Amino acid sequence: MSHLMNTYNRQPVAFVEGKGCYLTDTEGKVYLDALAGIAVNTLGHAHPSLLNALNRQAGRLLHVSNIYRIPEQEALAERLAGISGLSEVFVCNSGCEANEAAIKLARFYGHKKGITLPSIIVMEHAFHGRTLATLSATGNGKIQAGFEPLVPGFIRVPYGDMDAVREIASHNRDVVAVMLEIIQGEGGINLASDEYLIALRTLCDEHDWLFAVDEVQCGMGRTGKWFGFQHAGILPDIMTLAKGLGSGVPVGACLAGGRAAGLFGPGNHGSTFGGNPLASVAALATIETIEAEGLLVNATQMGDWLKRELTAALASVTGVREIRGRGLMLGIELDRPCSELVVKALEAGLLINVTRDTVIRLLPPLIFSEVEARELVGKLVPLIRNFLKG
Ligand SMILES: *Cc1c(COP(=O)(O)O)cnc(C)c1O
Repeated sequence: MSHLMNTYNRQPVAFVEGKGCYLTDTEGKVYLDALAGIAVNTLGHAHPSLLNALNRQAGRLLHVSNIYRIPEQEALAERLAGISGLSEVFVCNSGCEANEAAIKLARFYGHKKGITLPSIIVMEHAFHGRTLATLSATGNGKIQAGFEPLVPGFIRVPYGDMDAVREIASHNRDVVAVMLEIIQGEGGINLASDEYLIALRTLCDEHDWLFAVDEVQCGMGRTGKWFGFQHAGILPDIMTLAKGLGSGVPVGACLAGGRAAGLFGPGNHGSTFGGNPLASVAALATIETIEAEGLLVNATQMGDWLKRELTAALASVTGVREIRGRGLMLGIELDRPCSELVVKALEAGLLINVTRDTVIRLLPPLIFSEVEARELVGKLVPLIRNFLKG
């Protein structure tokens, strides 16, 4: 531990094995995983389909280079285009990298239109990553503090406030894109309404802006559809993915369509590891397994069940502000900071998370069953009740 850079407040537990929605620690204690490595382990742990695909690929070819054709990456791009309605994919390794690609794409689009100092409208409480450009796009002063000067070219507005965006549109000629999460994850499970997303899409069209959505956390089936934007019946120009895309193997993607397609040429962007055969196969197996096992429907059903049960058990409890979310991306907002609940849950054999100090965040694997959902409610509700009494 002492030789690691001190970048995380780590719980004093280490896991040695996982199976489905359960993890086992070094002492042999078993935990129900309602966090999935923060929306990463889409298929839970040690899913046979993913395991077989990875084993097969690892025995053949791990890595070549993007200076060669990579059929697995081409197949992944085709699948992602098919389920999203966007037409092009850049494959990378993480969420911040996917967003870096999106930001570069938006700037490049601006320069092609003759805008030399392009700006991107971003949201309060947004989270887009920890690289310099993505932390500058992030709407959280704690994440930015100490790393100034920030990357310029971002204009911030309140999430959900259409008037604020219209006001900027009325006078600013340097805007090239709007970028937001369909559901803000780190920002506390905040949902964009369909009307807001439709109005943003319309405004982007009127002003020739790109509409970019960061679905790093809410994409890949988590909300019950492949992508969060699909609930609103819109199509963005750019979408970024990572977290759940490879079910635990690091892989990210920046997708483009419409006016954002066809912009980059050779030399404009790249990545050594991005979309190597192993990572591409992990993402392909994830998509195929979500389809084969009906996990979009499962995310909807389990999410609805959890929301209903949690609401029934907690709605009248003083101190519970709101239970919200979509599919298996749920938040329980309390009226006070509650990070100690993470420790209490750990003791009770349950993995959860708290974000923005007061929001309990649930992001279970998409294979979550009703038995597991019952166990989650059975463990979590008494913890919350006791905490709020104390
Ligand atoms: C986690 C996250 C990121 C950053 O992803 P990394 O893989 O950690 O770089 C970006 N955007 C959203 C919405 C996220 O939840």
